[in-house]
Amino acid sequence: MRRLAARNPRTGALDFSFEVTAAPAVVEATSRARRAQPAWAALGFAGRASVMARFAAELTARRETIQAALETDTGRRRISGQEIDSVIGAIAGWSAMAPTLMPEGWVDGRAMPAVRHAPNWRPYALVGVISPWNFPMLLGMIDAVPALTAGCAVIVKPSEVTPRFVGPLRDAIAATPGLEAVLQILPGDGETGQALIDEVDCICFTGSVATGRKVALQAAGRLIPAFLELGGKDPLIVLADADLEAATDAALRGSVLSTGQACQSIERIYVQRGIYGAVVERLTMKANAVGLNWPQIDSGEVGPIIFARQAEILAAQIADAQAKGARVLAGGEIEHHGGGLWLRPTVLVDVTHEMAVMRDETFGPILPIMAFDTLDEAVALANFGEFGLSAAVFAGTLEAAEAVGRRLDAGAISLNDAALTAVFYEAAKQSFKASGVGPSRMGADGLARFFRRQALIANTGQPLPLSAFRESS
Ligand code: NDP
Repeated sequence: MRRLAARNPRTGALDFSFEVTAAPAVVEATSRARRAQPAWAALGFAGRASVMARFAAELTARRETIQAALETDTGRRRISGQEIDSVIGAIAGWSAMAPTLMPEGWVDGRAMPAVRHAPNWRPYALVGVISPWNFPMLLGMIDAVPALTAGCAVIVKPSEVTPRFVGPLRDAIAATPGLEAVLQILPGDGETGQALIDEVDCICFTGSVATGRKVALQAAGRLIPAFLELGGKDPLIVLADADLEAATDAALRGSVLSTGQACQSIERIYVQRGIYGAVVERLTMKANAVGLNWPQIDSGEVGPIIFARQAEILAAQIADAQAKGARVLAGGEIEHHGGGLWLRPTVLVDVTHEMAVMRDETFGPILPIMAFDTLDEAVALANFGEFGLSAAVFAGTLEAAEAVGRRLDAGAISLNDAALTAVFYEAAKQSFKASGVGPSRMGADGLARFFRRQALIANTGQPLPLSAFRESS
């Protein structure tokens, strides 16, 4: 038996430990899930919707306990509540939409009129989900809920960094008749994740590019699909005629929300030269007005850095930028309070693409700002680098923002706002470049990806004889 300790991000104390699910226990869990899945699929959309509605009710009944655990895992209060609400909302949303998303019925053939075909939507029996630490509950369940709605059994391996929410989540699952075998949460580390990939029919992974590559290779070895939602380095372009107040508000929120520990955080800001000084001034003023949620958790906007190693990455990026000529206009120092680690919104100017802060994922509240002259230059700057998760454009009109947005190599483009995918989940999008692989998690594909489409092909006439293909006529 192997146990792991988890650090409390507000106190730095290793005040929680849990048993790592070892490979044999993963195999056992997957066998149980596979045995239960046919009956789950046979319930149909309506039957599964009623079980999922009960699950939502059990989550609601335990909201305080789950929120308390998430608060300790992440060191923030309001967002913890929002994570739970998002999962409850997703359960209702997928259950309501699912019956309308899968077209059924026979279609006449075009090339062979006597032949008709119909789709049969066959869910993967067992889906694995591996999730990161930045939104432990939301990202643990974001793929699990549509997969369950589709009729799959699901096993989730959450991050070892934020394990406290698992207990109360399991309680809600156990209290939902019919759900316990088809939705299992297995706490563990990378080894548990690897063991899971070895057993499932399809793997959904949210995390870093480096681990995503390992997951993709392991899945390729088994010839199972891997849906990868990976890191980002999202740019925001601000054109000269943009509303400066709105653009700087959105830039600050897009970069600083969740202490920047979000895949779709704004991590690079490109401003047209004529308004560069004004944007820098306003953003610096707004950044300086942001407070920490310390010592009271229900104050300020910036929570602690959840994963201690992340603080080292942020400090290293700031130091590298300064060594290469960047200036810090706000924030800039990792602060130690009560054992936790904090970074205030950090505005950097005189930055270049030679600096790590403009190339590598930051995952923290750092706003490096660079000037550009022409639209072509802005597009080239924004399309620089290995990531293509999302991007944002501010302009005087939506049409002008759209014209630039259509040229960007990223999966979701916010127009006259930033990081909209943090709050709006309805638009289908796929990641570009190293930010991910696979069908959209948002929109109808978010459900459809959990089915294999089986084709039923019926001949209403006579089968062709072999002689129809004879070489000599
Ligand atoms: P990691 O890639 O480090 O870990 C993600 C998950 O993979 C964790 O559960 C981890 O377990 C597990 N894991 C580690 N090694 C392996 C392995 N060899 N095989 C299988 N699973 C493994 O990411 P982080 O947790 O640090 O999360 C931050 C990253 O997630 C950022 O890059 C961020 O951009 C990305 N992300 C992407 C999102 C998107 O939608 N595109 C959304 C949110 C975050 P353990 O933690 O126990 O080691």
